[in-house]
Amino acid sequence: MTAKENAPVTVLGLGLMGQALAAAFLKAGHPTTVWNRTAGKADELVREGAERASTAAEAVAAGELVVVCLSTYDVMRELLDPLEGALEGRVLANLTSGSSEQARETADWAAARGAEYLDGAIMSVPATIGAPESVLFYSGSRAAFDKHETTLRLLGGRTTYVGEEPGLAVLYDVALLGVMWGTLNSFVHGAALLKSAGIDALAFLPWATSWMDSIKLFVTDYAGQIDAGDGAYPARDAKLETHFGSIEHLLHESRSQGVDTELPSFIHALVSRALDQGYAENSYAAVIELFQSPKEVPSG
Ligand code: NAP
Repeated sequence: MTAKENAPVTVLGLGLMGQALAAAFLKAGHPTTVWNRTAGKADELVREGAERASTAAEAVAAGELVVVCLSTYDVMRELLDPLEGALEGRVLANLTSGSSEQARETADWAAARGAEYLDGAIMSVPATIGAPESVLFYSGSRAAFDKHETTLRLLGGRTTYVGEEPGLAVLYDVALLGVMWGTLNSFVHGAALLKSAGIDALAFLPWATSWMDSIKLFVTDYAGQIDAGDGAYPARDAKLETHFGSIEHLLHESRSQGVDTELPSFIHALVSRALDQGYAENSYAAVIELFQSPKEVPSG
């Protein structure tokens, strides 16, 4: 397919990520118009065939699909608010990171300007944009996603539409980041425990990763238990009170080996609360009951 046959794409914001997005469209032969506050960041893309717009309005006018990747939603609104009518009939695919609330507000804001809105979340770094394994989530207008799916898929092979509710892409994103930090903290804490006995992290690594494979099996069962919504949480692998005994060992070993106890103390307190609420005989999935009934916490 030649550039002429491909739909034109506009990219607003050429920071580290925006440059990677524009480069992926260009590489696939899409006529690509770019704009950035610091115009020099477009130089390399222009050498590769991108069209440099001198204003954001000119960039938006260049084609139906407008991909936005700026530092914040506030910056995006500051930039696009004055354009008003220019957004009519456009599809805004906003890959700027923000909250689900901002995504919903921006969907309404775009609708009021006659634009269709897709809120996107990128689970990749710039270097892996366009790779088959790269994950991008979109939520918002189904029609807009269907229309531009082939183009949007150029940014990552695992591009997925997750629903009409505009905030859903953000929720998938932060939920996965939470899984990442939970796993990273546990791995690093475990490495500290073994280091305290003179064992290298590289010796721990294969055991940690194969244990992650086992955890995949546990959560596969727990997802179904959570979705059943019957509060049963049958303990097919281990009861919560059995987990609690092992958590006490983790806490004890951390303390006695001179390793920080904040992480195991948190897990200990959480599961202890679940036992107090009567979930001793249930599976670990029952802990969701606590997450769904948050304690009063300071805002922030
Ligand atoms: P970046 O390199 O800091 O780029 C920020 C962009 O925002 C630049 O184009 C910058 O323009 C523009 N900008 C900031 N303030 C502006 C203003 N007042 N008016 C006009 N433009 C303004 O950041 P990035 O890494 O590209 O990230 C962009 C977005 O993608 C963020 O929301 C980030 O969270 C998200 N994201 C990034 C990654 C990643 O790995 N980098 C991964 C997932 C999601 P100038 O060039 O003129 O400063």
